[in-house]
Parts: sequence; C-alpha cells; structure tokens
Amino acid sequence: MYILVLNSGSSSVKYQLVSIKDDSIATRGCVEKIGSKEAIHTYSAGEQGKLKEVHPISNHEEALSVIFRALTNPAHPVISDLKQIAAVGHRVVHGGAKFTETVVVTEEVIKDIRECIELGPLHNPHNLKGIDVCMRLLPGTPQLAVFDTAFHQTMPEHAYLYALPYVFYTRHRVRRYGFHGTSHRYITERTAAVLNKAQKNLNIVSCHLGNGSSICAVRGGKSVDTSMGFTPLEGLIMGTRSGDMDPAIIQYIMHKENYTIQEVDSLLNKQSGLLGISGATNDLRELFALAEKKDQRASLAIQMMVYRLKKYIASYMGVLNGEVDAVVFTAGIGENNAYVREQAVEGLEFMGIKIDKKKNRAAEGEADVATADSRVRILVIPTNEELLIAKDAAAYVRKRRGN
Ligand code: AMP
Repeated sequence: MYILVLNSGSSSVKYQLVSIKDDSIATRGCVEKIGSKEAIHTYSAGEQGKLKEVHPISNHEEALSVIFRALTNPAHPVISDLKQIAAVGHRVVHGGAKFTETVVVTEEVIKDIRECIELGPLHNPHNLKGIDVCMRLLPGTPQLAVFDTAFHQTMPEHAYLYALPYVFYTRHRVRRYGFHGTSHRYITERTAAVLNKAQKNLNIVSCHLGNGSSICAVRGGKSVDTSMGFTPLEGLIMGTRSGDMDPAIIQYIMHKENYTIQEVDSLLNKQSGLLGISGATNDLRELFALAEKKDQRASLAIQMMVYRLKKYIASYMGVLNGEVDAVVFTAGIGENNAYVREQAVEGLEFMGIKIDKKKNRAAEGEADVATADSRVRILVIPTNEELLIAKDAAAYVRKRRGN
C-alpha cells in the first residue's frame, strides 16, 4: 500500500508515491503549466527511467487524471490499481490558528481551510482544489491535510503577537503564523534521532535556507519562535523577498515612486532580497559565480544575507537561554553551501558554537560539522517534507486499521 503526497499549486501539481512498508519512493513527478495546451507531465517510471508527456490540461482535475492514468499505465505500471493508494497527504500552506496538527479532511475541515484563504490567498485555493479533486477521483480514500503553519502553533502569545493595537489581532487575526513548519518539524525529529535524544528534551535552532528561508527556535521539541510572520515575507533575506525592514519604508516608496499597494507587494516579495541587491539573480550559486568575477553587488548580497542569518541565530540562542543542543542547516542553501554555514556561525564561539571548517567543507548528506569540543552541535540535515507528510498519513491509516 502507498501514500500519495500531493502539493497542488496554481499551475502545477507535484507528487510522490511513498510505500507505507518502508518509506521508499515508488515514483515522483510533476505536472506543470496547468491551463495550457502543452502542459508537461514528468515522472519516474521504474526501469523506464524519467518519462515526459505533453497533454492539453485545463485544470487540476485533468492534471490528476493524467497522473492517475500514468501511475497505472499497463505499459509501465507503478501500481496496478488506484486502490493501492491507502491515503493522500496534501500539503496545505495556511491553517491559521485553527490547525495545530495533521487532520483527516472532512466537510468541516474544508470549511476551515477555506476560512484561511484570506490569510494564504496565493496557496490555499489551489491546495483546496487538489483536495476536492482527490475526494472525487478517489472516493473512500482518506485525505489528510498537513499544514505549513501547524508546527508553529506552540509559539507563546508574546512571540506571535505584533505590537499593533490588540484589536487587529482579535478582529483580523493579524499575528505571526510562521511557515516551513513541516520542514522544521522534520528537522526536529531527525535531529532528535541523530543526537539520540528525546524530542521533549531537545532544543535547537533550525535554519531552513532555500529560495524562501526561515529560522525556528525549538524548545523541548516545539516551535517557540520563527522568523516568517503573518506572511512568508518577514525575517531572513531570501531569494526575492526583503525579509525584515522598517515598515515606514513602504509609504515612503509609494510616495516617491507613485507605486500602488500591489506594486509594493510585488517589489518586496518578487524583486527584493538577493535579486534586488545584486541586480542579477536570486540564485545563490549564480551569485557566487558572479562574486568570483569580482561583482561587488553579488558579494554584498551574499554578505547581507549571511549577516541577517547570524543575527537571527544569535538572537534565537538568547530565546533558548543558550541551552541549545544544535544549530541545524537545511534546504538548498543550508544543505549545500559550506561558506554560508561557516559565516553564519563565525564569531559565535562565545555561545559554545564552534565549526570545524574542514568537516564543514566536506559535508555531504547528514553531517555534524562542529568541532569535537563545541558545546553546541552544528548539523547539516537534508529536509524531507514529503516523507513527513507520508508518515503522518501512514500513521492515520495504521490507526484506522487498529495496528
Ligand atoms: P530550495 O528553495 O531549497 O530549492 O533552494 C534554492 C537555493 O539553494 C538557491 O539559491 C540555490 O542556488 C541554492 N542551492 C541549491 N543547490 C545548491 C548547491 N549545490 N550549492 C549551492 N547552492 C545551492
């Protein structure tokens, strides 16, 4: 039996089929350009290797029909029957304050996710489409919703509130929600396993550094603070997002450039961060290539990103009263970029964080890159959000079966 893990976006559906027996991936794939006559479905099909099909696909229902046909294609079946899908785990970005854990989808849950659309307008409507279509195409198969925000629901009020008039919280739900929760939770669970420590005794600073980045302070296995806020815009400097800045800049720019609120929104989310500073790219690998050629702005963008990251690591060390088992790096940049890891903790030896530069440069996969005498471990752990979604869904299936 398998779990289908689904991530439904506006014009794409990404999926993985994970075996309940041993967590192995039977196949993974993606339908892109939904809404076009030449939508592309790429997926792995056993010995056939990677396959690519082009179909006219006008909506999510057609996309999932294409996926289901491919999974059971007699020429190279991944599964013989859709009944082998024991449950579907859906990534849902915004669960508001309502969802603190993974839930089985019911009419009530759909209504609650719909109520979070105004908080997550870019993602929730598409996540809901995926749920709706699966409920129709796989009737009777349990659908689980796994929320990006759920892990952060343990944050205390003093960490999640903004110092705005309190009524904006009660009337409009304005507060910190945090994102990347599935990744930070996976990192917490994996770190506990790697350090052989019970999660309830584990304190870490989890750094998810990708095109979108966030950092999370975890005390006793639970999120107590995180850098993304009401939206994913707050916090670290990201590929195209500004992260923290003085909110007064917004009205100043609107006035000076005659910008609309939509233009400012796009400026801060899509044209800022590494891209905005470098004027060249949001991709860190390309920035390093430019910096090697003495591009000053590319170097500056990297320096700014790392400086902000170090500030957050140090401040979360304070949040956790210095009682930290590990600083953990994950996602595209965190897993692959030794320079960023090294610079982010440089000078933090006074906090008990000491990196072994040689080990750091040689790190591949899961690795401990701290010196032997470092009080705080420095870990690199590749994230795996899909696996966590599959595990949540598998746990539900087992519980339902009573084993
Ligand atoms: P993600 O959003 O997790 O896919 O991460 C994307 C970011 O990770 C981009 O800035 C990439 O340049 C960076 N990245 C991915 N792979 C590598 C690598 N092998 N070395 C350095 N940076 C990488």
